[in-house]
Amino acid sequence: ILKVEHLNKFYGDWQALHDISFNLKKGEVLAILGPSGSGKSTLLRTLNGLEDYKNGEIVFHGKKVQSSPKEWQAIRQKIGMVFQSYDLFPNLTVIQNILLAPTKVQKRDRAEVEEEAHHLLKRVNMDQYADTYPRELSGGQQQRVAIVRTLAMKPEIILLDEITASLDPEMVRGIEDIVKKLSENDHMTMVLVTHQMNFAKRVADQVLFLEKGKIIEKTPCEQFFTEPQSERAQQFLTDMD
Ligand code: ATP
Ligand code: MG
Repeated sequence: ILKVEHLNKFYGDWQALHDISFNLKKGEVLAILGPSGSGKSTLLRTLNGLEDYKNGEIVFHGKKVQSSPKEWQAIRQKIGMVFQSYDLFPNLTVIQNILLAPTKVQKRDRAEVEEEAHHLLKRVNMDQYADTYPRELSGGQQQRVAIVRTLAMKPEIILLDEITASLDPEMVRGIEDIVKKLSENDHMTMVLVTHQMNFAKRVADQVLFLEKGKIIEKTPCEQFFTEPQSERAQQFLTDMD
């Protein structure tokens, strides 16, 4: 569904991503792991058109994505992203946050979207908060809403950047369960960045291990955790324990 080929990304003169290539199949969950500053967020943001890139290709559904803002705006309807900081609009209620993009950007029928939104909120046990403002919710609850907001756009791929990093440990499991169910029940294609190895282990099919903007390892998830190929990955996993 998504193919990245020889992607290079610069911040000024400094190269943040070096020759990144990988393939994401429909229904697959890819975990991007690596030390802080290795370029994980940069890569996700690039896949969502939030960062430009110097050369290389991003191919979505077999079609090369042109780097025009207009094309990326269209792609962003299909490749949704959830951030560590939730980024809900503070002046809108939960349901208003969710309805905004599907009605305003996608111009879908409001009643239909609203029905779907309530259905999605029920799935994450948040429907009773539909008319609440984000500031009245806990971090875990806000992150549930942020996930629903992304799902309401009916994306084909979801990018998740450390979505559990700002949460209390007891909230983390609930969010992980939602992601796990999205994969198992909905066969949602996802790319997730996390520092929580257990999360990656639970949900990912493939692991991409980055260091200093380079892919050090690209392995099936189980193999990555049981017998990592590179010394660098072995060290990383030892440090994480
Ligand atoms: P973390 O695990 O801490 O979130 P990361 O792997 O997500 O790290 P990135 O945020 O992608 O790392 O950053 C990769 C490198 O790019 C870092 O050295 C960072 O300082 C640099 N960088 C990120 N954003 C910018 C920017 N807007 N301008 C210049 N350099 C940047
Ligand atoms: Mg990051």
